[in-house]
Amino acid sequence: MRLLMVAPPGAGKGTQATRLARHYSIAHLSSGDLFRREVAAGSDIGRQAAGYLERGDLVPDRLVLDVLAPHVLAAAAEGGYVLDGYPRTLAQAQEAYEVAGRISGVELQAVVHLEVGRDELRRRLLARARADGRVDDTESVIGHRLDVYERETAPMLEFYAARGLVVDMDGEQTVEEVFQAIVGAVDALRAGLS
Ligand code: ADP
Repeated sequence: MRLLMVAPPGAGKGTQATRLARHYSIAHLSSGDLFRREVAAGSDIGRQAAGYLERGDLVPDRLVLDVLAPHVLAAAAEGGYVLDGYPRTLAQAQEAYEVAGRISGVELQAVVHLEVGRDELRRRLLARARADGRVDDTESVIGHRLDVYERETAPMLEFYAARGLVVDMDGEQTVEEVFQAIVGAVDALRAGLS
Protein backbone atom coordinates (compact mmCIF):
# COMPACT_ATOMS: atom_id res chain seq x y z
CA MET A 1 0.00 0.00 0.00
CA ARG A 2 1.36 3.42 -1.01
CA LEU A 3 -0.47 6.46 0.35
CA LEU A 4 -0.03 10.22 0.52
CA MET A 5 -1.69 12.41 3.16
CA VAL A 6 -2.52 15.98 2.10
CA ALA A 7 -3.89 18.37 4.71
CA PRO A 8 -3.27 21.79 6.21
CA PRO A 9 -1.16 22.04 9.37
CA GLY A 10 -3.20 20.91 12.36
CA ALA A 11 -5.64 18.74 10.41
CA GLY A 12 -4.36 15.54 11.98
CA LYS A 13 -2.39 14.09 9.11
CA GLY A 14 0.49 12.96 11.33
CA THR A 15 -1.90 11.24 13.75
CA GLN A 16 -3.75 9.47 10.95
CA ALA A 17 -0.54 8.60 9.11
CA THR A 18 0.79 6.87 12.24
CA ARG A 19 -2.38 4.81 12.57
CA LEU A 20 -2.53 3.97 8.86
CA ALA A 21 1.10 2.83 8.88
CA ARG A 22 0.31 0.44 11.73
CA HIS A 23 -2.93 -0.77 10.11
CA TYR A 24 -1.34 -1.57 6.73
CA SER A 25 2.10 -2.52 8.17
CA ILE A 26 3.89 0.10 6.11
CA ALA A 27 6.43 2.85 6.86
CA HIS A 28 5.29 6.29 8.04
CA LEU A 29 7.48 8.92 6.37
CA SER A 30 7.02 12.40 7.84
CA SER A 31 9.00 14.97 5.88
CA GLY A 32 8.70 17.45 8.77
CA ASP A 33 10.18 14.89 11.19
CA LEU A 34 12.97 14.06 8.75
CA PHE A 35 13.87 17.75 8.42
CA ARG A 36 13.65 18.35 12.18
CA ARG A 37 16.03 15.41 12.62
CA GLU A 38 18.51 16.93 10.13
CA VAL A 39 18.33 20.25 12.01
CA ALA A 40 18.86 18.57 15.39
CA ALA A 41 21.83 16.61 14.01
CA GLY A 42 23.38 19.82 12.66
CA SER A 43 23.93 18.23 9.23
CA ASP A 44 24.69 20.30 6.15
CA ILE A 45 21.08 19.96 4.94
CA GLY A 46 19.81 20.68 8.46
CA ARG A 47 21.73 23.96 8.60
CA GLN A 48 20.33 25.01 5.24
CA ALA A 49 16.77 24.03 6.21
CA ALA A 50 16.57 25.44 9.77
CA GLY A 51 15.50 29.01 8.92
CA TYR A 52 12.71 27.83 6.64
CA LEU A 53 11.29 25.57 9.34
CA GLU A 54 11.36 28.33 11.95
CA ARG A 55 9.55 30.79 9.67
CA GLY A 56 7.00 28.21 8.52
CA ASP A 57 8.24 28.48 4.92
CA LEU A 58 8.78 25.50 2.67
CA VAL A 59 12.29 24.13 2.41
CA PRO A 60 13.57 24.66 -1.18
CA ASP A 61 12.66 21.84 -3.56
CA ARG A 62 16.33 21.07 -4.32
CA LEU A 63 16.89 19.96 -0.68
CA VAL A 64 13.68 17.99 -0.40
CA LEU A 65 14.15 15.17 -2.90
CA ASP A 66 17.64 14.40 -1.55
CA VAL A 67 16.24 13.88 1.96
CA LEU A 68 13.07 12.02 0.98
CA ALA A 69 13.98 9.85 -2.00
CA PRO A 70 16.11 7.23 -0.19
CA HIS A 71 13.37 6.71 2.42
CA VAL A 72 10.58 6.46 -0.14
CA LEU A 73 12.49 3.98 -2.30
CA ALA A 74 13.44 1.80 0.68
CA ALA A 75 9.87 1.79 2.03
CA ALA A 76 8.38 0.95 -1.38
CA ALA A 77 10.67 -2.06 -1.60
CA GLU A 78 9.53 -3.23 1.84
CA GLY A 79 5.75 -3.19 1.44
CA GLY A 80 4.79 0.46 1.08
CA TYR A 81 4.54 3.82 2.76
CA VAL A 82 2.29 6.54 4.00
CA LEU A 83 3.81 9.86 3.01
CA ASP A 84 3.11 12.72 5.42
CA GLY A 85 4.23 16.12 4.12
CA TYR A 86 5.88 15.15 0.84
CA PRO A 87 5.09 15.94 -2.01
CA ARG A 88 3.94 19.36 -0.80
CA THR A 89 4.06 21.50 -3.96
CA LEU A 90 2.98 20.91 -7.53
CA ALA A 91 6.65 20.94 -8.58
CA GLN A 92 7.49 18.25 -6.00
CA ALA A 93 4.50 16.17 -7.14
CA GLN A 94 5.53 16.37 -10.78
CA GLU A 95 9.15 15.54 -10.00
CA ALA A 96 8.15 12.58 -7.80
CA TYR A 97 5.79 11.34 -10.53
CA GLU A 98 8.60 11.41 -13.10
CA VAL A 99 11.07 9.62 -10.83
CA ALA A 100 8.49 6.99 -9.77
CA GLY A 101 7.49 6.41 -13.40
CA ARG A 102 10.97 5.05 -14.11
CA ILE A 103 10.85 2.48 -11.27
CA SER A 104 8.14 -0.13 -10.89
CA GLY A 105 6.20 -0.47 -7.62
CA VAL A 106 6.93 3.01 -6.27
CA GLU A 107 4.10 5.24 -7.50
CA LEU A 108 1.20 6.42 -5.33
CA GLN A 109 -2.02 4.40 -5.10
CA ALA A 110 -4.19 6.85 -3.16
CA VAL A 111 -4.10 10.44 -1.90
CA VAL A 112 -6.00 11.15 1.32
CA HIS A 113 -7.12 14.77 1.62
CA LEU A 114 -8.21 15.82 5.13
CA GLU A 115 -10.45 18.89 5.28
CA VAL A 116 -10.67 21.04 8.43
CA GLY A 117 -11.87 24.66 8.76
CA ARG A 118 -9.37 27.42 9.52
CA ASP A 119 -10.74 28.30 12.98
CA GLU A 120 -10.50 24.70 14.13
CA LEU A 121 -6.95 24.44 12.70
CA ARG A 122 -5.79 27.52 14.65
CA ARG A 123 -7.33 26.16 17.82
CA ARG A 124 -5.62 22.78 17.45
CA LEU A 125 -2.24 24.28 16.54
CA LEU A 126 -2.24 26.62 19.52
CA ALA A 127 -3.11 23.68 21.79
CA ARG A 128 -0.24 21.68 20.26
CA ALA A 129 2.08 24.68 20.78
CA ARG A 130 1.37 24.58 24.50
CA ALA A 131 1.91 20.82 24.63
CA ASP A 132 4.99 20.33 22.37
CA GLY A 133 6.69 23.72 22.04
CA ARG A 134 7.49 23.33 18.34
CA VAL A 135 9.35 26.38 16.94
CA ASP A 136 6.75 26.87 14.19
CA ASP A 137 3.65 26.65 16.40
CA THR A 138 3.58 30.32 17.45
CA GLU A 139 0.52 32.46 16.66
CA SER A 140 2.10 34.46 13.82
CA VAL A 141 3.90 31.51 12.23
CA ILE A 142 0.71 29.40 12.36
CA GLY A 143 -1.17 31.94 10.24
CA HIS A 144 1.70 31.99 7.77
CA ARG A 145 1.81 28.18 7.52
CA LEU A 146 -1.92 28.09 6.78
CA ASP A 147 -1.37 30.65 3.99
CA VAL A 148 1.57 28.65 2.60
CA TYR A 149 -0.65 25.54 2.53
CA GLU A 150 -3.38 27.35 0.58
CA ARG A 151 -0.92 28.87 -1.86
CA GLU A 152 1.65 26.08 -2.37
CA THR A 153 0.08 22.76 -1.40
CA ALA A 154 -3.68 22.87 -2.09
CA PRO A 155 -3.16 23.40 -5.88
CA MET A 156 -1.29 20.08 -5.98
CA LEU A 157 -4.56 18.24 -5.32
CA GLU A 158 -5.75 18.98 -8.88
CA PHE A 159 -2.76 17.07 -10.23
CA TYR A 160 -3.74 13.94 -8.29
CA ALA A 161 -7.49 14.37 -8.78
CA ALA A 162 -6.94 14.30 -12.54
CA ARG A 163 -5.56 10.78 -12.07
CA GLY A 164 -8.49 9.67 -9.89
CA LEU A 165 -6.38 9.18 -6.77
CA VAL A 166 -7.91 11.64 -4.30
CA VAL A 167 -10.30 10.76 -1.47
CA ASP A 168 -11.71 13.80 0.38
CA MET A 169 -12.26 13.25 4.11
CA ASP A 170 -14.00 15.34 6.76
CA GLY A 171 -11.23 15.86 9.31
CA GLU A 172 -13.48 17.42 11.96
CA GLN A 173 -14.77 14.08 13.25
CA THR A 174 -13.10 12.15 16.07
CA VAL A 175 -9.70 10.57 15.40
CA GLU A 176 -11.34 7.12 15.33
CA GLU A 177 -14.10 8.20 12.93
CA VAL A 178 -11.62 9.83 10.57
CA PHE A 179 -9.43 6.72 10.65
CA GLN A 180 -12.32 4.36 9.87
CA ALA A 181 -13.51 6.62 7.04
CA ILE A 182 -10.02 6.72 5.50
CA VAL A 183 -9.57 2.94 5.62
CA GLY A 184 -13.02 2.42 4.07
CA ALA A 185 -12.35 4.90 1.27
CA VAL A 186 -8.81 3.70 0.53
CA ASP A 187 -9.84 0.03 0.43
CA ALA A 188 -12.76 0.87 -1.88
CA LEU A 189 -10.51 2.90 -4.18
CA ARG A 190 -7.97 0.08 -4.40
CA ALA A 191 -10.65 -2.54 -5.03
CA GLY A 192 -11.95 -0.36 -7.87
CA LEU A 193 -8.49 0.05 -9.39
CA SER A 194 -7.47 -3.60 -9.31
P1 ADP B 1 2.80 20.78 9.42
O1 ADP B 1 2.15 19.94 8.38
O2 ADP B 1 2.18 20.63 10.77
O3 ADP B 1 2.94 22.23 9.00
P2 ADP B 1 5.33 19.36 9.05
O4 ADP B 1 5.94 18.70 10.24
O5 ADP B 1 4.74 18.50 7.97
O6 ADP B 1 4.28 20.37 9.67
O7 ADP B 1 6.40 20.33 8.35
C1 ADP B 1 7.10 21.30 9.09
C2 ADP B 1 8.02 22.12 8.18
O8 ADP B 1 8.95 21.25 7.49
C3 ADP B 1 7.34 22.90 7.06
O9 ADP B 1 6.79 24.13 7.49
C4 ADP B 1 8.52 23.07 6.08
O10 ADP B 1 9.41 24.09 6.50
C5 ADP B 1 9.25 21.75 6.18
N1 ADP B 1 8.78 20.76 5.17
C6 ADP B 1 8.20 19.56 5.45
N2 ADP B 1 7.94 18.91 4.30
C7 ADP B 1 8.34 19.69 3.28
C8 ADP B 1 8.34 19.58 1.86
N3 ADP B 1 7.86 18.48 1.24
N4 ADP B 1 8.82 20.60 1.12
C9 ADP B 1 9.32 21.69 1.71
N5 ADP B 1 9.36 21.87 3.03
C10 ADP B 1 8.89 20.89 3.84
